[in-house]
Amino acid sequence: MIPRNVYDSELELFRDSVSKFLIKNAQPYHEQWEKDGQVSRELWLQAGEQGFLAPTVPEVYGGVGADFRYNAIVDEEVARLGLSGIGWGLHSDIAVPYIVRIGSEEQKKRYLPAMVSGEIITAIAMTEPATGSDLQGIKTTAALDGNEYVINGSKTFITNGQMADLVIVVAKTDISAGSKGISLFLVEADSAGFSRGKNLKKIGMKAQDTSELFFDNLRVPKSSRLGEEGMGFLYLMQELPQERLSVALYAITSAASILQQTVDYVKQRQAFGHTVATFQNTQFKLADAATEIATTQVFVDRCLELHIDGKLDAVAAAQAKLVATEVQNKVIDECLQLHGGYGYMWEYSVARAWADARVQKIYAGTSEIMKLIIGRDLLKE
Ligand SMILES: Cc1cc2nc3c(=O)[nH]c(=O)nc-3n(C[C@H](O)[C@H](O)[C@H](O)COP(=O)(O)OP(=O)(O)OC[C@H]3O[C@@H](n4cnc5c(N)ncnc54)[C@H](O)[C@@H]3O)c2cc1C
Repeated sequence: MIPRNVYDSELELFRDSVSKFLIKNAQPYHEQWEKDGQVSRELWLQAGEQGFLAPTVPEVYGGVGADFRYNAIVDEEVARLGLSGIGWGLHSDIAVPYIVRIGSEEQKKRYLPAMVSGEIITAIAMTEPATGSDLQGIKTTAALDGNEYVINGSKTFITNGQMADLVIVVAKTDISAGSKGISLFLVEADSAGFSRGKNLKKIGMKAQDTSELFFDNLRVPKSSRLGEEGMGFLYLMQELPQERLSVALYAITSAASILQQTVDYVKQRQAFGHTVATFQNTQFKLADAATEIATTQVFVDRCLELHIDGKLDAVAAAQAKLVATEVQNKVIDECLQLHGGYGYMWEYSVARAWADARVQKIYAGTSEIMKLIIGRDLLKE
């Protein structure tokens, strides 16, 4: 085995505390949260107290000013335990970093401490009913009226959509300017004109809330714009590598965890007077899975190192997301097969992980969009 060297002993201690916390405060309740369609608010507050939310927020705004490896460890432990309802990845790795990077001083002071403590849960709303991959095709508008923007439109498939207290809304401030007409806004969930649709029923990640959101003549002050007007598309492109790395880390850890559980299962399951582990087919399947995980892990870890040094580019991040999520789906499908009928039963982790894995090839940019990014780079003049 190739040892991972991206984390030092201090980070491994942090991992230990995250894992213990999740085993005590999340694992026993996850089944109930699947029925509720969301996790508890209490979990967010407890995690905030422990410093597990948005670790990269600077100390001056209530955070611990850690590097992204702390986020990665939280993502990995959530994945390892199959606690897919917990939307911290979206909060800590995707939404909060926008405010850290492009928020005004006033926005940082107002929101970041409560995001670290878990009192403010965030979401980011890009996708609309008629457009997802083609972000420039969004129809939500934000029209300037005096000192306010008036936002109209709707979004769908929004992670943390039911629980979010603050939503980063992607809207067009100039419908004729293409990508240069897109801007970002911070919308508080108690604003007049904001409403949530139903909690969408999904084939997996059942404890995670995913919603439609509606904006009906919603007025925000100019000071709620996040960053410069017309720069929204660029900001999104700049943040996407971290989002994709986060998905890749989750994917490969989930695959590794399910593989280990499958190894344990086939060693005790009997068929034809032998354990399932004795069949050559089983050994070959496990060997293929272990090899794909090990080789992908090395690439993903290297991407994490590059990201810490500020050098992860869009193409490498797309490759990490593409390969890790494809490996995750392939490996977990083979592991389910090795469980036979039990693999199809919801009470088995492998069944849940199989259902959870599917969306990883869809959100944060589909596998096809990842290939577009990689292909275009290869062919550029
Ligand atoms: C559980 C879940 C959580 C989500 N969370 C969020 C969130 O928090 N915030 C948010 O904004 N969005 C979120 N999304 C939305 C997600 O990012 C989109 O679903 C995704 O980007 C794909 O967009 P789409 O659904 O409109 O598919 P489409 O863009 O309609 O794509 C349909 C198919 O066409 C393919 N395709 C599209 N364009 C091309 C092309 N140029 N070349 C080749 N193939 C192409 C796609 O790969 C796909 O296979 C979430 C989705 C899910 C399911």
